[in-house]
Order: sequence, then structure tokens, then C-alpha cells
Amino acid sequence: MSLRGKTAVITGSNSGIGLGVAWELARQGADVVLNSFTDAPDDHALAAEISQETGTNARYIQADMSKGEDCRALIEKAGACDILVNNAGIQHVAPVPEFPVEKWDAIIAINMSSAFHTTAAALPMMRKAGWGRIINIASAHGLRASPFKSAYVTAKHGVVGMTKVVGLETAKEPITANAICPGYVLTPLVEKQIPATAKEYGISEDEAIEKVILLKQPSKAFVTVEQIAGIVTFLCSDAASQITGTAISADGGWSAQ
Ligand code: NAD
Repeated sequence: MSLRGKTAVITGSNSGIGLGVAWELARQGADVVLNSFTDAPDDHALAAEISQETGTNARYIQADMSKGEDCRALIEKAGACDILVNNAGIQHVAPVPEFPVEKWDAIIAINMSSAFHTTAAALPMMRKAGWGRIINIASAHGLRASPFKSAYVTAKHGVVGMTKVVGLETAKEPITANAICPGYVLTPLVEKQIPATAKEYGISEDEAIEKVILLKQPSKAFVTVEQIAGIVTFLCSDAASQITGTAISADGGWSAQ
């Protein structure tokens, strides 16, 4: 399979899963658009490195996924969007009564509403091109809940719901929409959760990993960025063209429980 000639926009891709997905799609031949809310030389350097290594055209476009107009502008500035990977996401951990309202609003905007705005902007382009793939990086928390993660669990369940709707609205077209629901992947987002979880439960960081973070992941191993990137690539293949409106778990057995 080659993705040569396709343009992939990956939100929140200057780090972690998004960056790994961008690398893999570029290795498969796609021109990739990296994104985050920052506009640092390092961000543009990531795109330059991908272009140089893969011989594709990789660009970095700054856009804040907490703002609807920025989400839509990202797709417009990309100029084409055959593959849309909605990946930008943040986390905050606190019990509901103490959950900061600004964190709730930011998580709902970045983790959920951004995917609505980018999808709305990208679908007309996909229809014009006659092909499209929408891949939402949800979470095991899109299917299951955990305490202290009200905004994140709400947003990720919302993303799984929206994926089903978009799958139905595009069902007769050569466009698919799917969610990937990873268990814990060791990225900067999770690295930040380790001390927060240790503090919340009053335990050491090692105990937080073993007894809390990987408690629900029966494999007792972190999922890797490369594994998620591989699933994204599979969803872009012809073999996956009848897979739509679904949520694919990669969670070491978490959601089997
Ligand atoms: P990460 O912190 O490494 O990456 C998050 C990305 O989102 C970064 O590139 C960051 O710059 C970007 N981002 C944050 N706020 C943004 C904003 N306002 N506008 C644009 N970009 C913004 O985390 P990650 O683990 O790679 O997470 C990526 C996605 O995968 C998230 O949606 C996360 O919820 C999901 N996920 C992660 C795990 C995990 O265990 N790491 C598990 C399940 C789902």
C-alpha cells in the first residue's frame, strides 16, 4: 500500500502518539501536516526532519485545537485533507467537586469539540477528492470510566459517539470514520499523570504505575506509539474500507473486562 498523493492532517502532533502517527504515514508516502498550539522553531524542525527522511512534503501548521475557528483554519490552510487524525488531547485528574472549570472546558474543547470542527471542515474536501479516512484517537476511557477523570471520560465517550454518527453519514461514500481506543501508552501525557496519580492516591510513583495506571490493563504492559501508528495505517488501507463507525481497542485486554 502506498499513501503517495494523499495528505494527512494530524492534530496535536509535535509529541507522543500524534508525532509517531505522522512519521508512519509519511513513511507510507503521505504528505503530512503536523500541528500544535505552539509555533516554535522546534515544531517546524520536526516537519523538516520528516520531509528529509521520507522524501514527502511535511509541514507544520500552528492552530489551537481549543478554538473552533483555529480547528477549521488548520484544515483550510492544509489545502487538502484525505486523512484526518484527530489526536490532540490533554488530561487533568481531580474529583468532580474540585475539578477546575477551566480544565473541564479545555478538555471538552481540545479532546472532543476539535474533532467536530476539523471533521466538518475536512468532509467537503474528502467528498471532492472521492476518498477519505477520519481516525479519532479516543481512549479506553471512551468505553470505560475511571474516577477523577470526569472531563476526559466525558470527552472520549463523546468522540466515540461522534465517530458512529460520521460513519453513518458517510456510509455510502468511499470515506470511513473510526476511533482507536488505546489503553495506556507511555507518552508525555501519561508521564505527567504518574506524579498526579501518586499524589491523588498518596502512594509512590512506582506503585502508581503498577497498582493504579496499569491496574485495568491486564497485559501489564504499556501500548506503544508504533502499535497505534500501525492501526492508523491499517485503517487507511483497502482492507479496512468496510470498517466504519467503530471503535477499535488496543488496550491489553482492558475493555474485555
Ligand atoms: P502528548 O501530550 O504527548 O500529546 C498531545 C498532543 O496534543 C501534543 O502534541 C500537544 O502539543 C497537543 N495539544 C495539546 N493541546 C493542544 C491544543 N490546544 N491545540 C493543539 N494541540 C494541542 O499525549 P499523547 O499520549 O500522545 O496523546 C495523544 C492522544 O492520545 C490524546 O488525545 C490522548 O487522549 C490519547 N490517548 C493517549 C493515551 C496514552 O496512554 N498516552 C491513551 C489513550 C488515548
